[in-house]
Amino acid sequence: MKSIAVIGRGSIGLLIALELHKNHPDLDITLFGERSKYSASYAAGAMLNILSEIDCFNVELPLTKWKLKNRSKALKEWDYLNDYLLNNQILDKSIYTSFGTSMSIENSSINECEKNSFDSVMKAAKEFNVDIEIINHDDQQEILIKDEHSVDSNSLLGAIDSYLQSQINVLDTNVRSIKKNAHKDWSVIDENNNENIFDAVIIACGSWSEKLISQSQDIPLPKIQSFYGIGCALLVNSQLPHLKDPNLKQIKRTPNRGGTCGIHGVQRDNCVYIGASSHVSHKDLKLPNPESIRVLIEGTQKFIGINISEFALGFETAMGYRPVTSDHVPIIGSLSDNLFCIYGTKRDGLTWAPFYAKCLVNNMFGKLEMDWDELLNLCSPSREHISAGSIDDCIDLYLLTKEWEDYQHNQVFDEKKKQRLRKMAQEAHDFINRDSDIKIGLNPEIINVLYYRNCV
Ligand SMILES: Cc1cc2nc3c(=O)[nH]c(=O)nc-3n(C[C@H](O)[C@H](O)[C@H](O)COP(=O)(O)OP(=O)(O)OC[C@H]3O[C@@H](n4cnc5c(N)ncnc54)[C@H](O)[C@@H]3O)c2cc1C
Repeated sequence: MKSIAVIGRGSIGLLIALELHKNHPDLDITLFGERSKYSASYAAGAMLNILSEIDCFNVELPLTKWKLKNRSKALKEWDYLNDYLLNNQILDKSIYTSFGTSMSIENSSINECEKNSFDSVMKAAKEFNVDIEIINHDDQQEILIKDEHSVDSNSLLGAIDSYLQSQINVLDTNVRSIKKNAHKDWSVIDENNNENIFDAVIIACGSWSEKLISQSQDIPLPKIQSFYGIGCALLVNSQLPHLKDPNLKQIKRTPNRGGTCGIHGVQRDNCVYIGASSHVSHKDLKLPNPESIRVLIEGTQKFIGINISEFALGFETAMGYRPVTSDHVPIIGSLSDNLFCIYGTKRDGLTWAPFYAKCLVNNMFGKLEMDWDELLNLCSPSREHISAGSIDDCIDLYLLTKEWEDYQHNQVFDEKKKQRLRKMAQEAHDFINRDSDIKIGLNPEIINVLYYRNCV
């Protein structure tokens, strides 16, 4: 193989391009893509969280078990990346911005999703021998995960992007389509209709990957649909230099709450990041929902302990699209000879980007990576929809998350609404099971979007 195109300039595309450049210096590498304002990677917190991403919805899934099994290796890749960036003077200070994760839950919490997710984290830590500390305060319980840190995704990815611009071919243009040629190589056609030929192509366009595949000739579209997981966060800082900036040494977070957003505070290089809302849609909505902003502002004071009425405190918003698939499992693997794709990483793609990049590149060049085949089997682009559980259980969980979502957003959840949502959930399940012998249950977060995209 002499030439390769990497399409997409988010965390996955950038780290694949860096990995190729590091280990295959003779390869002709071209990185395509505009830096979209809505790139998930630049909107990310970016917590390198694996244990604290466990919740009551995903704790028993095979993908979660795979992640927990490979947790230390994925975190180690961040240390190697840090060393590489420092040794090559791509960055002049460590990439880490907060050290360790503190996850807490108030003893008075009546939110069942939150309580179950907190218990799921403890259960997973025990099962996979993760070193955690449990602290019982008067009014809350806290789990400390010492080896899960955060990075500033903007400084980090910005630095890698600039470095790659000086080392490989980086084209600031999106790709319109890909075409297989008679000689078994690939044509990549950009938005200006320029055509370039490559021996191999990797599609890493996050939420936009499905669109690119569907615009390309003779490339099989995965059966699993993909959506925009719209996420919004606040970037909080003091506007006057002589006043003290809010500062967090550790990641502070609540457990994940399924359909409703868990709140987290993360240190960035020049602000505190408060994240993040989550709304899965088949439309690329461009503006944050005011209610999401209200909940984040409330959480800044209540959970993160930053006094929001402090003089001169200000905030901006960051928004991006988490790439979400309809079964919440990423799509990773080969679409055709020398054509690979990797997208659908949802809320932890940044954490896994260095590890995925290393395994994917090694695998392409015939080097075996332990456990990678297992992931490829789970995430194959030609797979059938993976069930999230029995249909009845999934509908019950969906109604429970909707109830707590409404509670958090001060909305009324009455019997009439419950009946309407149950009917929607049933129709979304009827749709996904229309041609299936086995009965597939849907993750609560996906039911609304599947219903609106396919059943209305
Ligand atoms: C608010 C928020 C908070 C998050 N927090 C975390 C976190 O704390 N930890 C964590 O691990 N993950 C987090 N995530 C998830 C994480 O950001 C994603 O899983 C991951 O970064 C996805 O990376 P990506 O490269 O696949 O996609 P993206 O970052 O979306 O990048 C895709 C790129 O492809 C480009 N592109 C699109 N179409 C084309 C085309 N036709 N041709 C060429 N290029 C194209 C886009 O412009 C973009 O640059 C968060 C996401 C959001 C939105």
